[in-house]
Amino acid sequence: MRIKRFLIAFVSYLIFCALTDFSFSLGLTSVPLHVLAVSQLGILAGNILIYMMIRTGFSRRFKDPSLTFLQILIATFWTMEVLYYAETTRGMALLLYFAIFIFGLFKLNVRQFLFLSFFTIAGYATVLLLLYKNHPQSINVKTEMLNLVALAIVLPWFSLVGGYITRLKAKISNAYYKIKETESKFSTIFDSASDGIIVLNVSEGKFSDANDKFCNMLAYTREELLKLNISDLHPPEAVSFVTDQFKKLIKREMIIAKDIPVLKKDRTVFFADISGSLITLNKKEYAVGVFRDITERKKAEELLKQSEGKYRLLADHMRDQVWIMDLKLKATYISPSIEKLIGYTLDEIKELPLDKLLTSASFKAAMDFSSMEMPRALASSDYTVTRSLELEFVCKDSRTVWLECVFTSIKDKDGKLLSFLGEGRDITERKLIEDRLRSEQQRFRALIEHSSDIIVVVNLKGTISYINPAVEHVLGYKPEERIGAKGFELIHPDDMSFLAESFTTLVADPNPHVIKGEMRLRHKGGSWLTLEAVGSNLINNNVVEAVIVNYRNITERKKAEEVLRESEQRYLELSIIDDLTQLYNSRHFYDQLKKEIERSNRYKQPLTLLLLDLDKFKEFNDTYGHVEGDNVLSRLGQVIKRCLRETDSAYRYGGEEFTILLPMTTREEGMITAQRIQKELTEETFSPVVSQKIYVTVSIGLAEYKAKEEMKSFVHRADQLMYKAKTNGRDMIFHE
Ligand code: GH3
Ligand code: MG
Ligand code: MG
Repeated sequence: MRIKRFLIAFVSYLIFCALTDFSFSLGLTSVPLHVLAVSQLGILAGNILIYMMIRTGFSRRFKDPSLTFLQILIATFWTMEVLYYAETTRGMALLLYFAIFIFGLFKLNVRQFLFLSFFTIAGYATVLLLLYKNHPQSINVKTEMLNLVALAIVLPWFSLVGGYITRLKAKISNAYYKIKETESKFSTIFDSASDGIIVLNVSEGKFSDANDKFCNMLAYTREELLKLNISDLHPPEAVSFVTDQFKKLIKREMIIAKDIPVLKKDRTVFFADISGSLITLNKKEYAVGVFRDITERKKAEELLKQSEGKYRLLADHMRDQVWIMDLKLKATYISPSIEKLIGYTLDEIKELPLDKLLTSASFKAAMDFSSMEMPRALASSDYTVTRSLELEFVCKDSRTVWLECVFTSIKDKDGKLLSFLGEGRDITERKLIEDRLRSEQQRFRALIEHSSDIIVVVNLKGTISYINPAVEHVLGYKPEERIGAKGFELIHPDDMSFLAESFTTLVADPNPHVIKGEMRLRHKGGSWLTLEAVGSNLINNNVVEAVIVNYRNITERKKAEEVLRESEQRYLELSIIDDLTQLYNSRHFYDQLKKEIERSNRYKQPLTLLLLDLDKFKEFNDTYGHVEGDNVLSRLGQVIKRCLRETDSAYRYGGEEFTILLPMTTREEGMITAQRIQKELTEETFSPVVSQKIYVTVSIGLAEYKAKEEMKSFVHRADQLMYKAKTNGRDMIFHE
């Protein structure tokens, strides 16, 4: 369109140029040749420029994409130039310009026209002014002024009319396009609707239009259809009902009439949902019916109803994994969760033999199960397996998963077995934990079975329910000999009361706790063993629910302890006993003296001390030798021991000096002991030299303890008394 306009303008320019050239050749114009040439080249360049602007799309940025305004503006400019040189033909040229001006009539608006008018009048006035200045002889001022005034009056009018025409034209074309658009929109909807639409002229009672879909639905051509009545579209028995429904639709008493039977051309019936409305077109009333074929939906519903039983079964039993198998145990359906779990698609599973899908143990279990359950499923019409089966499946990625499976038979309505519904619950996690527990149990069992301690499980009545093999090693009984027996049968009679007491204490407190003790048990061979028993009350422990006693044989340890104690005693005695005389040594004397003084003070009991010294022993030694002297000392020790009571004690105080402590003994009683020692000693003879009999004597100091007396002064008194005996002739007893 734009190009056409441009070409028209271009041709006008060409004509314009040709006219100018013609005038030039006739000498009708005063234009110099170079101006003519430049002008015409300028026209060419201007047209090329406008063409390029249109072509490149650059002109689209202007409000007026056909550039009419620009073209007329340029034309006006050239016209002014022509008018300048036109001389006598100026009137003609001006007339021609009008033609150009009118060119814009259908395109420019009022404002653009007014601008052009102003430009033209100003341009023409300038031309006249220039001519008047340069070639005053060439213009008739009066005529030209008239021309100018005429222009000034006509052009604005022209502008107003032109602008109005343009606006009118635009309005008309807009309205036209709008109508066209709406019409095509509606006809598109009408024709391409997925529902069948039929339009009924209410007053004539005839169909006035139907869309393609409606024609296809009923298998009529449009022409055939438009000749029919409402009663032709429905089975005769339904016609009154349908008309009634349709009336309700039109009155908007209902929105959709459902399941309406519709007759096809071949007299078969299909069902449709119909909605309808009343419209007024050109003062005539039309009823519009919209038909939706619901045959497919009905079919789907029917199918759904048929399979509802199956789906209900699925829904009711849906746990985690569901699949359906045929009677050969091949899967015909697997739930997406199974695909996800096992990694195989249904098609892959169909191809897979069952012994590849299950581990060998599970395959065997499945086969056993099926051979047992299948006949029952075949026999009973609504058989459900109550026992679940745990199967280990091998996944596509060779992982294994455990499913707890329950099977249900699916039968048709005549009771014929069709397939099995399998439901599985993923119990892999539980199995793993069980495995771990089992191995842990095995480990503990191994620990218990190989323990060197006896481990016994007894109930509240003391009956043994378990005993480990250590019992044979320790007590000589085989475990089976003891299980069921009473736990206390082998206990030493002396330890029975302790055991009974401990057991009562142990079971009295329901909380888990432990009691320890030692007791003697009888070996099968009859000997007694000492065992350390540790009892744990696990009555309230869900797993154990019993008392557990752990016996450790400590007989050897006890023996060792005994030996140790004896040897310790021995060492102790050695450290306080004098080797030569077998009497206590002087260190022990002071310890004992201290104790006896304390006792005497506390209980106000008498305490007597004897201090003995051999007479002239140096001489003896010197005469018969040291060895003989030692013999005397040893014999004297035995004499003293003989003469003492149980509670008395004798000590080698120094080289040949002895002390004797007589607790609970007065001075008088002490005298008797001292005298007895002297007497006994007289009966002891020594024969350091063969055929010679030698007697030894002792001098004795005797002191009775005085209450609160210092230990030192007590000993000193005895010493002093002994010394007195020496000085008074020896072999004497001196006391205060
Ligand atoms: P007395 O006491 O009667 O005044 O005369 P004594 O000769 O016994 O004098 P004293 O008690 O001073 O002498 C102690 C002597 O006892 C000196 C030493 O030869 C002797 N003696 C001391 N210890 C031992 C010993 O372990 N073995 C022997 N064989 N002799 C000893
Ligand atoms: Mg002495
Ligand atoms: Mg002496």
